[in-house]
Amino acid sequence: MKEYDVIIVGLGPTGGTLANLLAIQGYSILILEKENSFYPLPRAVHFDDEVMRVFQTIGITDKFLKYTLINKGTKFVNKKGDVILDWPRPKEITENGWYPSYRFHQPDLERQLRNRLKSFKKVYIQQNTKLLKATNTKNNVQIIYQDIKNNKILNIEAKYLIGCDGANSTVRNQIKTNMSNLGFTQKWAVVDLILNKKKNNLPDRTIQFSNKVRPATYCRNVGRRRRWEFVINNKEKEETIMSEKYIWNFLKPWLSKKDAKLERKTIYTFKSAISKSWRKGRIFIAGDAAHLMPPFMGQGMCAGIRDVSNLAWKISHCLKNNHSDKLLNTYQSERYSNVKEYVSTTMRMGSFINAVSSTKITKNISSNKEGVKSMKSIKPKLGKGLGKVNDKLRGKIFPQFKLKNGKNLDEKFSSKPIVIISPKLKKKISNKINYVLSNNVNGLSEYLNNIKSEGLIVRPDRFIISSIKSNKISKIKNYSI
Ligand SMILES: Cc1cc2nc3c(=O)[nH]c(=O)nc-3n(C[C@H](O)[C@H](O)[C@H](O)COP(=O)(O)OP(=O)(O)OC[C@H]3O[C@@H](n4cnc5c(N)ncnc54)[C@H](O)[C@@H]3O)c2cc1C
Repeated sequence: MKEYDVIIVGLGPTGGTLANLLAIQGYSILILEKENSFYPLPRAVHFDDEVMRVFQTIGITDKFLKYTLINKGTKFVNKKGDVILDWPRPKEITENGWYPSYRFHQPDLERQLRNRLKSFKKVYIQQNTKLLKATNTKNNVQIIYQDIKNNKILNIEAKYLIGCDGANSTVRNQIKTNMSNLGFTQKWAVVDLILNKKKNNLPDRTIQFSNKVRPATYCRNVGRRRRWEFVINNKEKEETIMSEKYIWNFLKPWLSKKDAKLERKTIYTFKSAISKSWRKGRIFIAGDAAHLMPPFMGQGMCAGIRDVSNLAWKISHCLKNNHSDKLLNTYQSERYSNVKEYVSTTMRMGSFINAVSSTKITKNISSNKEGVKSMKSIKPKLGKGLGKVNDKLRGKIFPQFKLKNGKNLDEKFSSKPIVIISPKLKKKISNKINYVLSNNVNGLSEYLNNIKSEGLIVRPDRFIISSIKSNKISKIKNYSI
């Protein structure tokens, strides 16, 4: 029986990104996807700079960028229309080397991810196949799946299996765990429209309409796409709310039927939940299979991309060296608290939009000169895992820098770790170590000064694993991952 390095179940944004991260390292990958094609209608419409950096690693940004729009931010207004909270996204390049926030159309991203996968000889995509069963053995995972078109049951093996199979994950059932409900459950209508022509009276920002009667969201999406979302109260009949008559009446303050085409209308129950366990042996879950959150911060898909950026290099390390439970356990421990912070913040934002709580969504809120409250995005650190907890830099993101020859440090090291040292440490470090001298990189010496560090070890996912102290430098071995 053929054994793959990795089998990925589900080819949504999480599975597509993971497949690309592993494919650039040359592994053999089989992707099982139960649908005939990708989900053609919009869901996610926003992602951030950290996620764009992962897209840069897999080499899709050149082509994908033209399908994105730089997001200007969100305003929260009360029922009188007064701005009660601002969440600006300044058009400035962040430490990740990209703008803080982008708008996009999810099918455009999924197309780019799949197109990129076509360039790898050892990636096999089997559409219309459904995972039925996955069993851990000591050295691999045994898989039973179904070819849906001809109803055949097939067997296959892999060193590792990752379930990126969404909210109703079969893989999550296979590892016999379940979701902890964190408490937010609310029905929302989602209405996607394409404007017939540019309409200047529609805002360029996302607007959150905070009120108790009909909390709602307006999203300025790419091109002529616009989205409205609004709460459905428990007593309301779904058929009534989803009727065209109701929807056009709801949209009256902004649009009439002649202004736009109704692309889709649907109802989602927004939930907040995190799986208790994310791994059993050689089987993992990631993305919506591991966590769910309402879309108010636009972070559900982003969290899934962060999961696989964390997991891919750890699996690669195990495939190149030996299976290491210790290393693989850090996947959940590092990701769990990070994603929980996003889920909790989103839930507080949900309460604010429902006008049942004050602005205490995050600690990053202050009043501007006009007295309007303004919020900054959160950037939670990784949870406990690799590196020492008393090292203050450990678990923080390492910025993206350019070498003096113009080459990008991320791209030069691709999926490898980076050892960075200040010139002071040059004489003390073994010549066997492949390191980067800070004064050869624009801005890196200043950065080290600012964070009061003489050197750093950076992981392949560009998080800092540890700072280097001059008295410990002789202990550093060539850092091979
Ligand atoms: C209205 C709305 C707005 C949103 N807005 C945002 C946003 O702005 N930003 C953001 O970051 N997130 C947003 N999200 C969340 C985002 O859409 C999801 O988090 C994201 O799609 C999850 O990706 P995934 O790959 O983990 O799962 P999915 O996209 O659900 O993909 C799972 C895949 O697995 C396949 N599959 C399932 N079971 C099996 C099986 N047994 N065998 C084989 N294949 C299987 C499915 O067919 C599917 O293709 C939004 C969600 C909604 C509903």
